[in-house]
Amino acid sequence: MGLRYLWIDSLCIIQDDAIDWQIESSNMARIYEKSYVTISANNSTGMLLGPSAIRRSHSVQLEATDLYGEPKAIIIRSPLDHEKFFASSLEGVGLDGSEWEHDYPLSKRAWCFQERLLATRILHFTEEEVVFECKTHCECECGSIVHRKYGTPLKNLYSGITREAFTPTGLVTTAWDGWKVVVSPYIQKDITNPLDILPALAGLASRVQSDELGQYVAGLWGNELALGLFWFADIVSSRKPPIKTAPSFSWASLAGTSKVKELQWQWWSPDNKAKQAYRIVEIHCPVAGLNPYGTVSDGFVRVHGYVLAIKLKNEQVRLPFNSVVSSKTYEQRAVAFMDRNPITEMTTERDFVCIFGFTWSQDSDSSEKAKQKVSALILERVGTDVYQRVGCLPFLDNDPTWERDAEEKDITII
Ligand SMILES: [Zn+2]
Repeated sequence: MGLRYLWIDSLCIIQDDAIDWQIESSNMARIYEKSYVTISANNSTGMLLGPSAIRRSHSVQLEATDLYGEPKAIIIRSPLDHEKFFASSLEGVGLDGSEWEHDYPLSKRAWCFQERLLATRILHFTEEEVVFECKTHCECECGSIVHRKYGTPLKNLYSGITREAFTPTGLVTTAWDGWKVVVSPYIQKDITNPLDILPALAGLASRVQSDELGQYVAGLWGNELALGLFWFADIVSSRKPPIKTAPSFSWASLAGTSKVKELQWQWWSPDNKAKQAYRIVEIHCPVAGLNPYGTVSDGFVRVHGYVLAIKLKNEQVRLPFNSVVSSKTYEQRAVAFMDRNPITEMTTERDFVCIFGFTWSQDSDSSEKAKQKVSALILERVGTDVYQRVGCLPFLDNDPTWERDAEEKDITII
């Protein structure tokens, strides 16, 4: 290719030098975006297996003659599973929930997620074929994969969130919508060191940052924080003891506590006539090192809203579990999405409150009869008016008694 320089992250970043690591990891976006081509060893499970080592499928050439007796060469090799390759480029598109399976280890690693999104051109080395991917084009050796004009869904997603190109899917309408579809698949990836959860997304965050989104707040955005706090996750398993990777109000805290199957956000649109029942008063979320989008060790948000002391009783041992939420005069059955296992801890007499977030009508026609819903965060008290998030109740029936029973005040979520 006539290229003079090769950049390899594990060699070009001094791995045991914290300062060099912080500086270089904040340069990731520039490196991947400005590189001529990025070489991707899709089947590689670690740094010791390069592309040449994993291309196992060698072709065999046979000599033959055609109908006219002319000598011809026939090249035979095992084919690439094109469906599988396509599946590895679908993540993050937020499609209808259908299962797309692939077993490319590289696409399952958190660090490699932004590298694929940011890279201008990629040569994917699979066992069978080399596949070329850029922002607007993807093509394999045999010609079975050809995505012209828009490229693969994954690259297209990046173009969409950075407003570089028109999004044919129409799924991404605002920068915040784009950020959510990026973060949801990202938190499901494997990460060796959970403390890398924010640094491994820092390159992307630095590119997505805009006046529209505002200040970066541990994986969320200041101007969208009221909505941003209302995430809820399907948890597969939890770690013990948990590692603090971010303040509890951020989805990034899940990396240190839980293996996530799906991460969603409270859905808001002008159609469902959502009304915000609380407001953000103060945001304090400094980064721990030199990377402005890197690790956040401590931080808090101060919010003003309706706070209700509750008891949680789980009815079924599964996640997300059905729970009875009750206070003095208020009781209802609801689906609780807890941020970590085991849920048995939740049945003890711990000091829980919920703070109410948004009311909206479940049916988009928003008629009189449409069912009114309200969402709430489940918080555990850790100090005077200081709480940490432990879960989310996204779909409570909007029984207005909560407004009467709750105390309207400022609280801090750490
Ligand atoms: Zn092919």
